[in-house]
Amino acid sequence: MTEPVSVAMGQGSSCWGCYQSLVDIHLRLADVLPKLDIKFWACVADFKHKDLESYPDGSIAVGFYEGVARTEEDLHLLKTMRKKCKTLIAFGSCSCFGGIPGLANFYDIEDALKVKFKDNKTVSGGQVPTENVPPFEPVIRPNSDYVDFDIYLPGCPPTSDLIFTAVSALLEGKEIELPPYAVCHYCNREKKETPIPEILRPYEGVADPDRCLLEQGYVCLGSATWGLCEGQCVNRGATCRGCFGPVPPISQDQGAAGVGMLGTYAPIEPDKILEKCKDPLGMFWRFSYPSSHLGRIRIRREEAKTK
Ligand code: SF4
Ligand code: SF4
Ligand code: SF4
Repeated sequence: MTEPVSVAMGQGSSCWGCYQSLVDIHLRLADVLPKLDIKFWACVADFKHKDLESYPDGSIAVGFYEGVARTEEDLHLLKTMRKKCKTLIAFGSCSCFGGIPGLANFYDIEDALKVKFKDNKTVSGGQVPTENVPPFEPVIRPNSDYVDFDIYLPGCPPTSDLIFTAVSALLEGKEIELPPYAVCHYCNREKKETPIPEILRPYEGVADPDRCLLEQGYVCLGSATWGLCEGQCVNRGATCRGCFGPVPPISQDQGAAGVGMLGTYAPIEPDKILEKCKDPLGMFWRFSYPSSHLGRIRIRREEAKTK
C-alpha cells in the first residue's frame, strides 16, 4: 500500500459548509480516508494551533483553508498553513473571493459588531464580547492578499463531486484540471438572444421550464459564474446566484460582469431595474465583494481609517 498523503484542514471565519460538503461524499469517504494522514483538523478533533506550528515548514503535502481572515487568529492560521503545506488550496468561495462573510465590508466594523451582538433580532441585552475572543481585522480582505494559493476550489459550498474529483487527483499525484466554462455552458434551457422585457422577482409569474431564465426577466448570473457545479440550480428551476464566483481568470469582477450582462440584454431604464433589484450589491457581488473593484475601494477606505 502506498504511503498516506499528509493533509491539514484549516478553518478561518466560515460556516463549515465546505467541510460539510467534503463529509457529504458519504461512502466514498471509505476510499479516501485511509489514504489521508490528517495532521491538523481543529474543528473535528482536539488539534491546537501549536500542533500545526510544530511541523517543519513545507512538511505537509496538502492544506485546505476554508473561510476568511476576519480575526487575527484566522490570519495567523492562514499564514501558518501556507508555511507548513506544500500545496495550499483556497477551499470554497469565502476562501477564494471573500464570499458571504465579505458582505460585512458594506459596514464599518463597529456597526457590524453592533448588528451581530446587540441589535440582532434574536438577541436581547447582548454585549460585544471582550474576553477570550481574538481581535477583529478592520476589514475582510481576500485571502490571496495575505498568502499565495496553489489551487482555487470555489463554491458555496464546492459540490461533493467536485471535492471528490479534486481529492482523488491529489491522491494520485495528478494535477487538478478544472474546466473553465460558465454555468450557461451546462444549462439545458434554450437561449434565443432576445432582449429582456422586464425584470421579475423570483416569486413573480411562472417561468417557462425550457427557456433561459434571464431572457424571461429573472436575474440569473449564469454567464458571469464559473460552472464547476455543472448548472445544478438552473437545471432544477432556480436562477444562478453566482456561488462559484467569476469564470477564469478568477481575478475578473463577477458582479460587474453580471451588471454588464443585464445592461446588454435589458433595454430598461436603470431606475426601473433598481426597483426590482432591491439589493444590487448583495445580488451581483454576493460571493465576491472583497475581491471586486468596488470592494477594493471599500477596503482601502476602511484601512485608511486605521493609519
Ligand atoms: S464558501 Fe459558503 S459553504 Fe463554504 S464556508 Fe463559506 S459560506 Fe460556508
Ligand atoms: S443565463 Fe441562466 S438560465 Fe440563461 S442560459 Fe445562462 S444559466 Fe441558463
Ligand atoms: S447554478 Fe449558480 S448558484 Fe447554483 S450551485 Fe451553480 S454556481 Fe451556485
